[in-house]
Amino acid sequence: MRDDFAEEVKRVIASRANQRCSNPDCRATTCGPQDDPAKFLNFGVAAHITAASPGGPRYDATLTSEQRSSASNGIWLCQNCAKLVDNDESQFDVGLLKAWKYIREHDARMSIGQTAPPVQDTDSQRKCRKILQWVGKQVMLVKMATPQQEMSMGARPWASQYVAVLECNEFYVRLKVNDAITRSIPLENLRFGRDDKYGCIELLEYSR
Ligand SMILES: [Zn+2]
Repeated sequence: MRDDFAEEVKRVIASRANQRCSNPDCRATTCGPQDDPAKFLNFGVAAHITAASPGGPRYDATLTSEQRSSASNGIWLCQNCAKLVDNDESQFDVGLLKAWKYIREHDARMSIGQTAPPVQDTDSQRKCRKILQWVGKQVMLVKMATPQQEMSMGARPWASQYVAVLECNEFYVRLKVNDAITRSIPLENLRFGRDDKYGCIELLEYSR
């Protein structure tokens, strides 16, 4: 006689853990899509804190059948951690598993409805996003003095002209200088200014 969890109880245990492994050193995501668009993959296990049957890990004879098969006796773990905790019940005792469960459910509760933390952009991604708003429009391209020119004249704009932004990716921006000439400039050579006269951005081009 095993006091297994009913499917509905397993769903409760999984959802209360937000489908993540409760081992704080693991916290693996336990479900995701399969190739078949109608199916999902489950890598999680509703593990018994105290075993479902006599002789199992951490078995507690004082529990009733209902208590043993209730969600309060379950902890959501990934398949690896579920094996781990059942192989060594002296290291992974009831107190430890209950602590894991408490922490996981606390974290899951605090994260409900919270937006994900913003992913940090690289410098190039930031530049690219800024330039993308100007695709198809005119911007001012300002060539800054080369290091040699700077030595004799100081750091100042060397030449400037209006150009059209054709496209931009994480590495370079392509500009239409006139009907005959397009130029690609690496984003690492660009900084930004503001052209107040026409209300557009300035692309400050530094030569390396
Ligand atoms: Zn795990």
